Amino acid sequence: MNKFLPAVAGIALLAGAQTSCAAEDTSANLARDIMGELVAVNTAPSGGSDTRKAVELLVRHLKAAGFEDSQINALGQTEALQNLVVRYPSANPSRPPLLLMAHLDVVEALPADWNYEPFVMTEDGGWYYGRGTNDNKAGAAILIANLIRLHNEGFEPDRDLIVMLTADEETTGNATKWLLAEHRDLVDAEFALNTDGGPILLIDGKPLALMLQTSEKIYVSFTLQATDPGGHSSRPHRDSAISRLSRALVDLEAYEFPIDLNETTRTFFERWISIAPEDEAMIRAVLADKPDPEALDALLDEHYYNAIARTTCVATQLDGGHAENALPQTARAVVNCRYLPQSDLTTVRNTLEEIVAPYNVSVSQIDPSTPSPPSPLSPPIVDPITEIAQSMWEGIEVIPEMSTGATDGAYVRNAGIPVYTVSAVADDPNDMRAHGQDERIGVQAFKDSNYYWYRLIKSFTTSTADAP
Ligand SMILES: [Zn+2]
Repeated sequence: MNKFLPAVAGIALLAGAQTSCAAEDTSANLARDIMGELVAVNTAPSGGSDTRKAVELLVRHLKAAGFEDSQINALGQTEALQNLVVRYPSANPSRPPLLLMAHLDVVEALPADWNYEPFVMTEDGGWYYGRGTNDNKAGAAILIANLIRLHNEGFEPDRDLIVMLTADEETTGNATKWLLAEHRDLVDAEFALNTDGGPILLIDGKPLALMLQTSEKIYVSFTLQATDPGGHSSRPHRDSAISRLSRALVDLEAYEFPIDLNETTRTFFERWISIAPEDEAMIRAVLADKPDPEALDALLDEHYYNAIARTTCVATQLDGGHAENALPQTARAVVNCRYLPQSDLTTVRNTLEEIVAPYNVSVSQIDPSTPSPPSPLSPPIVDPITEIAQSMWEGIEVIPEMSTGATDGAYVRNAGIPVYTVSAVADDPNDMRAHGQDERIGVQAFKDSNYYWYRLIKSFTTSTADAP
């Protein structure tokens, strides 16, 4: 009978694989259905920036799956701006909680600009189309579907799992600030994993790199102002308010903040050479202790690299004069700066003041900035993120990155909780449509990301070596 053993073993293996596949499909289908329901709720400004219905439908899913009222918190600063915080408790926590993040609001979408209905999820040609499919309703759906899957499987985490879905990431970020300030106990965690960024770069259909966002630049704007007694424009004097402000702005454009790398951006450039070998000389110049000024000149035309390597300040708005036939009494410009997280506000402000001082132009800060220390590339966090990715996408490189924009992650980092943003959604970097027309996510990419997050969550909530 021995000759049948291999066949029997084969059947057993097949059955095991099928079980895991079926669980995979069930979870991915649930995540897809939830994403479709979320897309159908207009959480853009044209829908009143109202996230209530999105929160309500997620609460229905959680309750139907057996989550208890005490685990579910729907709360917000206003009736419309509702956030959802769900806790999947550990019966026996041995570590502080893990926070999982996504946001429920979306950027505006005008139906006339789209080839698909923006607030209906449409599957077409291997893609799910709809506002929020990419940014960031896929992430919200994946987190909720995975909580439900883990619950159905009776999974016992060794720490509390907290899912935080926020209401206004695309506008003020106030919801996150408010949750951290007023409800810290609900969302406090050792660190956070965020679905809102960190794609897989799909180049010629091949997944080359998983971006892991661990840092972001800091946003601050200033008003530059020149004043003058003014007078009749038929008898002009030298150095009018507009002339002085203009010269100050020309000098500002000519100024380059020094190259300054942190752990994330240094690692980014080191690993990026393998993705963009054609840029190796320039990248080596950025990485050099004493960069060659000529090599760095070319960097100014590489806007992405340049923005990663240094603080930038640029004039974005102008306003001056009060009449066609009068000398201006006031001229103003808004200068928007994105400073490096390892730098500081005083340095930026002092630099601006030095640049404009010869023209008697004043500098005043418009809104407070939120410092956001880069999250360390700690092996206990980065290793599982890398190993699971490499087991799913052969040969993929994990590349830490600093966002040149700002997200909810800034407030969480500022509150002392490191944030690692990694959607693991594969997409073509030359055709990313978040915030744009015909936003979409690949059907397979969505399913893979859902499974990646299942494994990621389990690996960070399982102490023993039998993580998936
Ligand atoms: Zn987003």
